[in-house]
Amino acid sequence: MTEVAEAPDARRAQELKRIAHWINGASVAGESGRSGPVYNPAAGVQTGEVDFASVEEIDRAVQAAKDAFPAWRAVSLSRKTEIFFRIRALVDEHREDIAKILTAEHGKVLSDALGEVARGIEVIEFCCGIPELLKGGFTEQASTGIDVYSIRQPLGVCAGITPFNFPAMVPMWMWAPALSCGNTFVLKPSEKDPTASVYTAELLKEAGVPDGVFNVVHGDKVAVDAILEHPGIDAVSFVGSTPIARHVYETGTSHGKRVQALGGAKNHMIVLPDADIDMAADAAVSAGYGSAGERCMAVSMLVAVGDAGDELVGAIKERLPKVKVGDGMEADSEMGPLVTREHRDKVASYIDKGRDEGATVVTDGRESAPGGEGFFLGVTLLDDVKPEMDVYKDEIFGPVLGVTRVSTYDEAVRLVNENPYGNGVAIFTRDGGVARQFQFDVNVGMVGINVPIPVPVAYYSFGGWKNSLFGDLHIYGPEGIQFYTRGKVVTSRWPDPATSKVDLGFPQTR
Ligand code: NAD
Repeated sequence: MTEVAEAPDARRAQELKRIAHWINGASVAGESGRSGPVYNPAAGVQTGEVDFASVEEIDRAVQAAKDAFPAWRAVSLSRKTEIFFRIRALVDEHREDIAKILTAEHGKVLSDALGEVARGIEVIEFCCGIPELLKGGFTEQASTGIDVYSIRQPLGVCAGITPFNFPAMVPMWMWAPALSCGNTFVLKPSEKDPTASVYTAELLKEAGVPDGVFNVVHGDKVAVDAILEHPGIDAVSFVGSTPIARHVYETGTSHGKRVQALGGAKNHMIVLPDADIDMAADAAVSAGYGSAGERCMAVSMLVAVGDAGDELVGAIKERLPKVKVGDGMEADSEMGPLVTREHRDKVASYIDKGRDEGATVVTDGRESAPGGEGFFLGVTLLDDVKPEMDVYKDEIFGPVLGVTRVSTYDEAVRLVNENPYGNGVAIFTRDGGVARQFQFDVNVGMVGINVPIPVPVAYYSFGGWKNSLFGDLHIYGPEGIQFYTRGKVVTSRWPDPATSKVDLGFPQTR
């Protein structure tokens, strides 16, 4: 079984861990000669080396998935359900082990990592209901002696390409519905934190998932493009940044695949003057800096309406010195490091950029970052941000929260609707009528009313609008089941001499 993370000091002394592919139910060492580093971001040291797949290795994984498909597809729904209950039990049993892997490679604090696993488990639980979810429709006597019914069938081999920020949960959004619908799967996780996926593969095998049904290949653009162009893959789910999501959607669909590609975000939180400002400030700090801002549903821009601004900025500023930044393995840490040194430096560069563009640096996270080699940055608050600034336009994906001030509700909604992203949005107000109007007005896929991170529960579907999603169907929930199946309608008649005759006319339903 894949090793679970140990304390950073113990790890530093160890040899680099090699992270291999998982093909046809076994660990397979890469042979391409290409690989990438995996770090412990809190210590700032490399802990592993992950194999990067060649085109041939991707082909091998796809072939394994293709060979496994006919038998997996034929497994009864009751047996699949039994396996899914076992998967659920095993993931639950190992939730702490998985969380430790996430903290060790991604850096998020352990409590947050446990939350990630918990939200992933909810998707597995939803998939335990697959017999109900795949129920079709039936019409008796549509015409005399003729019945019509609809069924949904799996697509074949599906692939998932996932980002670094949710190394366990986002893959679960994909493989759980895909497998429960009867597909086989090839997962290409982020090369920055790949171990959780291999660990999951071992759990799935233990739960009784047959060899070849779930495969993991690591890599970079070479692996992704090989997946997008492979004729043996029927559908691709992608979650990551917008430029790559667009590339995945365009390339995948031009190669005849069904694609859902979820992209980046710039999530606004609107605070109206009548809002409970303490509640809004707590929410802004939690949603802006949780997981060091490396969440696609993180709040990155506060829109203070009317005279809400001064009080809101004051309340947030007061809370920031109390945010404990540190190694995610330590129990009192509330915010961990960023995923890599390069990313930390890029995020930090936005602080000077913001100041140069005319924003006010209320709190500079460089001043509160813990020392040492870890990829840390403290919490940063920028006030007086304007929509034309890069700190407003770019997805910074770090602990940098901006505040922009507007005079009216209409102006706030216009800002959100003009933004090219449309993943999540929140409004804080005590006025139910305004909140209801907001849900009607706003062009965003996931809306929170006094809720800052409105990630839908597993029995609804997750997805943004505009540049936050390329494709038609959202991920997991009912739309996930739709994505991983296609419909078939059967019109049937059984031999009945009373209704049998030659009729060359177009079939009529009477
Ligand atoms: P990323 O786009 O850099 O990488 C995502 C995946 O694409 C990885 O598996 C990576 O190996 C692959 N990839 C990277 N560059 C590629 C290229 N040039 N060609 C082909 N494949 C390539 O994203 P990331 O940095 O890992 O994750 C952060 C991003 O993901 C943020 O933009 C965040 O908003 C987004 N995200 C979105 C959601 C959502 O639900 N909309 C959820 C989580 C993360």
